[in-house]
Amino acid sequence: MTSAIKNFFHPVQTCLVLSLIALASCLCSCRSVPVTGRSQFLLTTESYENDLGAESYEEYKKEYPVSTNAEYNAALERCGNAIKAVANDLGETDDFEWEFTVLDSEIQNAFCLPGGKVAVYSGIMDGMENEAELAFVVGHEIGHAIARHGGERMSRTIVQSLGAVLVSVIFENETLDAIYGTGTEIGIMLPYSRSNESEADMIGLILMARAGYDPSASYTFWKRFTNNAEGSSKLASILSTHPCDSDRIKAMEENEPAARAEYNMAPTKYGFGKTFTHRK
Ligand SMILES: [Zn+2]
Repeated sequence: MTSAIKNFFHPVQTCLVLSLIALASCLCSCRSVPVTGRSQFLLTTESYENDLGAESYEEYKKEYPVSTNAEYNAALERCGNAIKAVANDLGETDDFEWEFTVLDSEIQNAFCLPGGKVAVYSGIMDGMENEAELAFVVGHEIGHAIARHGGERMSRTIVQSLGAVLVSVIFENETLDAIYGTGTEIGIMLPYSRSNESEADMIGLILMARAGYDPSASYTFWKRFTNNAEGSSKLASILSTHPCDSDRIKAMEENEPAARAEYNMAPTKYGFGKTFTHRK
């Protein structure tokens, strides 16, 4: 028996690893993502994720003042309510305590934390033409929350940590630990993050369309935004958390017919909504 295999049978270490695997198996749940139907693996509970979301949201509101821009606040309230209604129809938001806030900051980003806590920085609204573009950004962020991407990411991190413990216990070899760490980082975490973006885009498109906003605003916004962002560090914030490339924009264009079919059936239509004053 090799020394590596002998190490595996060290009773205390083996017990630790088996306990961690048993714990993970007990807690694990599989779920189907609304709209896309993708199966996902979760180790975290929805109430745990929502508690974390509510806690973080309060921190953000302490860090940034709530915007006093009446136009921005009214636009977010209008499109937030419209998207919230169609998101609730998916039946996955019973435990959400929805909140929509415009935060006053030059940061060009937006987010929806688990449990329906939505924030849009005034900085990104300064770069929008109209309310339909806001509807897409809000729909996309809510898409992340409905798909429980935060919980999924935490679950993957737990599995990654368990894997690292296992490799370390079996081989007691730092080089292998490093290889394992890099492998899971590149092989799992990065592509996963990009697939999250595509999924949130798909959900966002469907939500904005069902809420009555013209789905073409999705790619017109992203095209203009990414072109403007090139070479500007101030505009890069949303791109660092929401990677965008030509493939992503192409996918939005390809998914538009499905979203337009939903838009055509929407009982109330806002089209592109209000054009923001700074664009008139
Ligand atoms: Zn995103």
